[in-house]
Order: sequence, then structure tokens, then C-alpha cells
Amino acid sequence: MNRVRTFFEDICFNIKNKLFSSKYVIKGKCKKCGKCCRNILFSTKDGYVKSEETFKNMQKKYRYYRNFRISGKVKDKMEFQNGALTFECKFISKKNKCLIYPFRPIFCRDYPNINPDLIYNGVEMLDGCGFYFDVNKKFSSYLK
Ligand code: SF4
Ligand code: SF4
Repeated sequence: MNRVRTFFEDICFNIKNKLFSSKYVIKGKCKKCGKCCRNILFSTKDGYVKSEETFKNMQKKYRYYRNFRISGKVKDKMEFQNGALTFECKFISKKNKCLIYPFRPIFCRDYPNINPDLIYNGVEMLDGCGFYFDVNKKFSSYLK
């Protein structure tokens, strides 16, 4: 069942990728390293979450955030990200398997997608990720 579901999701992912990403296109494939489940950034209207206190308040307000724990801090990145806390999902196993795979949230199903955060980040994926972004060729360039 999971295999069928994954195949179907892959098709949707590729269609969305081709239809809606005009400037960049996602290439490559997942190496199942689990880094993206352990290096999650959260943001509020004031920017990236940088303090434990802010995160605890978010957890009180929204149960969803109780599925995460702090895993580290962003260093040596651009000013707006520097000091941001990184979070680890509690459902990633030691062998990098998602323990709730069939029920994982939409954000996980959609990852990686082209969004403003990634563009601000210089369109860079996490180190060692099997996906990468490429510049989409314009239709007119095929006519030359
Ligand atoms: S970081 Fe990239 S390669 Fe690793 S699990 Fe996430 S999507 Fe897959
Ligand atoms: S729900 Fe699964 S895929 Fe999503 S962050 Fe957690 S472990 Fe990763």
C-alpha cells in the first residue's frame, strides 16, 4: 500500500514541480539521510524562532509543536537566520525512518518545494541532501 501511495505522490510531486516552478526546478532524489527531519526551522511573524521560551509558548498554544524538540542552532549563515534554533521531529527513528510515514503532514509530503525561504537561502539544500535545484530553461531558449 505504501509503495502505491509513494508512487502516486511522486507523480503529483513531479507534475507540481513542472507546472509551478518557473525559475527553478527540483532534481535528484532522496538519500534517506533524515537530515531534513532533524534540521527544521520554525518561524513566527517576528522571524525565525531563536529562543526556547518562544518555542515553549508555541507548544502551549499549538499541540502540533509538541512533536518537535530542539536539535541545535544555525551558525555562520546569513544574518536573518543566524542564531535560529533547529528542531528535530520526534517521529524520526535512529535508522532515519519516519515512524508515521502514511500519516505524515503535508509539509513532509511536499518537501522539498520551492518556497521563499529556500530562495532567500540561495536555493541551497541541506549539506549532503540528494536533491538539488537547477535553473529552469525558458521555453524560448529551446527555439534558438
Ligand atoms: S535531507 Fe534530503 S536526502 Fe536527506 S532525507 Fe531529507 S530529502 Fe532525503
Ligand atoms: S513526520 Fe516523518 S517525514 Fe515528517 S519530519 Fe517527522 S519523521 Fe520526518
